[in-house]
Amino acid sequence: MQSDFGFNLDNSYARLPEILFSFQNPTPVPAPEAVLINAKLAESLGLSPQALRSKAGTAILAGNENPPGALPLAQAYAGHQFGHFTMLGDGRAILIGEQITPAGERFDLQLKGSGRTPYSRGGDGKAQLGPMLREYIISEAMHGLRIPTTRSLAVVTTGERVQRESLLPGAVLTRTAASHLRVGTFQYAAGLRDEKVLKLLADYAIERHYPDLARESNRYLGLFRETIRAQASLIAQWMLVGFIHGVMNTDNMTISGETIDYGPCAFMDTFDPATVFSSIDHHGRYAYANQPKIAAWNLARFGETLLPLIDVDQEKARTLAEDELKNFSTEYNKYFLDGMGRKLGLAEPRKDDKVLAGDLLQLMYEHKADYTNTFLDLTFQRFDQSELCRSEAFLRWQRRWQERLNANQEPWEETQDRMKQSNPAVIPRNHRVEEVLRLAVQGGDYDPLGKLLQILAAPFAHSPEQAEFAAPPDPNAAPYRTFCGT
Ligand code: AMP
Ligand code: MG
Repeated sequence: MQSDFGFNLDNSYARLPEILFSFQNPTPVPAPEAVLINAKLAESLGLSPQALRSKAGTAILAGNENPPGALPLAQAYAGHQFGHFTMLGDGRAILIGEQITPAGERFDLQLKGSGRTPYSRGGDGKAQLGPMLREYIISEAMHGLRIPTTRSLAVVTTGERVQRESLLPGAVLTRTAASHLRVGTFQYAAGLRDEKVLKLLADYAIERHYPDLARESNRYLGLFRETIRAQASLIAQWMLVGFIHGVMNTDNMTISGETIDYGPCAFMDTFDPATVFSSIDHHGRYAYANQPKIAAWNLARFGETLLPLIDVDQEKARTLAEDELKNFSTEYNKYFLDGMGRKLGLAEPRKDDKVLAGDLLQLMYEHKADYTNTFLDLTFQRFDQSELCRSEAFLRWQRRWQERLNANQEPWEETQDRMKQSNPAVIPRNHRVEEVLRLAVQGGDYDPLGKLLQILAAPFAHSPEQAEFAAPPDPNAAPYRTFCGT
């Protein structure tokens, strides 16, 4: 059995103090059916896509059977939700185990929507098909964009209906992650006021994500520093593709630096720093332009949890942590400028390129230009496509850009290649995503969804078939809104 599937599970999380989790089996479902299996991801994990697609495989992905070596559990965590501290935990997700891949890497396998846990509070522990398919699409699109993210291995329908605003088919998503350690996991551990548990958790995080720190004299300060760096890099990458997470609560921020929790997220079409999609984000706390600031706020909460481990002298610990946190904006700006430079074709951006990029963004804002497609217009020198590109102000900007490129003395082809690798031909456009979800959920037609996934898997291919997926929404369409999808 084991060799058929390729499961090679370890359960290192289950060896941590039991106060950090609860053993919990998934709740069986009546009639599981596999609707999406990520064959490439399965193979990279050492799992057989054929076996996963079989009846026995579907039973595992639905939570009706445990794979060999599984030790299912729900993780405890806390979190600041929209700034307010709450006790949470996996309310509808269950960690099945950690798959050790043929390359020796370790990935959490987690079922999402697989029934109630001790942390479910009032929730039913279930998920609807639409939001699980949406997480599959967006997380795989992020992976295609080379942005660190949890990934989606499979979606199975359960044969049940799940009540939210309406009664719709239920589903279970299998998510993989470098780990599910969150800032909120540390907030929970710190709240226990048991330094031994906190230390075990921190050592665990170091071993899993930043093993080189083990040799450092102050490895907990190192853990803070490395998480700051990973998040600064991640948020810069979000900003560079116009991704708006939508619910950057501390429980939705990983220690690994992977994007997690695809609820109300969406990609920006028209460039506007104040863009918010989430229907519950009334004050724009998690608006596009606020994301770096919120990340720093969340990291400050992470730093606070580590203080008892950083130094016995808490004043000293606080100063050390604050000094590390100051680096967030430096690191973030560096990653952002590097990425923005490449989007403009510059291999080694200079400090003053920030002004050049900032002026372009300002023009995009004033002319209500499409963020993704403006960079494509620059890449392919299509200066007649948009109102922005035809404007006088843009012509003046373009001259400055051209002069800057000339200073590099590089053949245009090389510059263009760099731009093609940094400016995606496609993003998961909201209207496209909604359309394929509707066809799949209401009509059972998964072909358009499959096609969209294929297009989004290689956004830097710039192939002719991608062109139709690049179109922005109808300018007269109602503003796009997202919901938490719980
Ligand atoms: P999220 O907004 O997805 O980060 O979820 C916040 C918290 O609510 C987490 O603890 C989730 O596990 C929990 N949760 C979300 N949906 C449900 C549900 N349907 N049943 C139980 N818990 C849920
Ligand atoms: Mg969450």
